[in-house]
Amino acid sequence: MALKIKIEKTKTPRIPPPDDSLAFGQVFTDHMFVMDYHEGQGWHDPRIVPFGDFALSPATIMLHYGQATFEGLKAFRARDRIQLFRPQANIERMNRSNDRVCIPRLAPEDHLQAIISLVGLESRWAPKTEGTSLYIRPTIIATEPFLGVHASDRYIFFIILSPVGAYYKEGVNPVKILVEDEFIRAAKGGLGEAKTPANYAASLLAAQRAQAKGFTQVLWLDGVERKWIEEVGTMNIFFVLGDEVVTSPLTGTILPGVTRDSVLQLCRDWGMKVSERMVSIDEVMAAAESGALAESFGTGTAAVISPVGSLTYQGKTVKVADGGVGKLSKKLYDTITGIQYGRLPDPHQWVVAVE
Ligand SMILES: *Cc1c(COP(=O)(O)O)cnc(C)c1O
Repeated sequence: MALKIKIEKTKTPRIPPPDDSLAFGQVFTDHMFVMDYHEGQGWHDPRIVPFGDFALSPATIMLHYGQATFEGLKAFRARDRIQLFRPQANIERMNRSNDRVCIPRLAPEDHLQAIISLVGLESRWAPKTEGTSLYIRPTIIATEPFLGVHASDRYIFFIILSPVGAYYKEGVNPVKILVEDEFIRAAKGGLGEAKTPANYAASLLAAQRAQAKGFTQVLWLDGVERKWIEEVGTMNIFFVLGDEVVTSPLTGTILPGVTRDSVLQLCRDWGMKVSERMVSIDEVMAAAESGALAESFGTGTAAVISPVGSLTYQGKTVKVADGGVGKLSKKLYDTITGIQYGRLPDPHQWVVAVE
């Protein structure tokens, strides 16, 4: 059954800022989608209301114990319409994250309807310039006011929208990566594959220290042996080793990225040799030295493809792709953004029209 979404429009609509002033996640549109959950009642009262603050008890479970999940996807302005990129994948992933932290699932069709209704209502906020987009942030927070540690009996699901600027406004700048051998992001059996706030709190100190040393991001190794490659910052990571495209397997500690999955599919479409396998930092450093490491890149919704310019591990730095943008990085970036903005055919039916 379709959701009956009540709509309360703002009395003070704002003028969206010019495209060239946009960065990431600083500007929000006039409205947000909200829906409540209470035990015994299920999800109810879907509504679109003016963007605004929530009133929460200081005892709210989410504020103390982090019971929450979120997603991140984008709407793009194609020639004659606004379209989403693989929203069903984000919707399914949010339910898997929900399962892990005991949050009730959302009906996928309701979630998609909520996104489409909100983006449709806010379409004038979708920026027009090449490379810009409307970022969509669905979030669920546990709202029971209770200091005991248990799963909340009530939740708020909300979606906010943020027009974002082109990620590569000043051209693609390959990132300098520090391989992190002290801190870890996640361990098997933990929260690594859920998009839940704790993972990001766990990552801040390593990122801050790396940035203080002049690095862009850290490359995470596994939590047991500090040997196997997991992710880079908040992106999945790929290596081109000889003729093999390699990424870490989904073994529970890494986030199953939608962009990762799209890259795997495209490389397979192109007949490339693709492996989801364990890859050690020693293998990567040795390949970099022997010249077998052709390129490396991170993948995620924000950047799509983020080429790695250098890797530093235990005091040793190797350049990757001569510090530039590799051939496959460029081809993947052009293909995925081509599909997102409707410039290229969409053989896998990845895009979903909003209006
Ligand atoms: C969201 C996220 C990714 C990338 O996922 P996409 O679906 O491609 O945006 C990778 N790693 C982490 C830790 C993430 O939070």
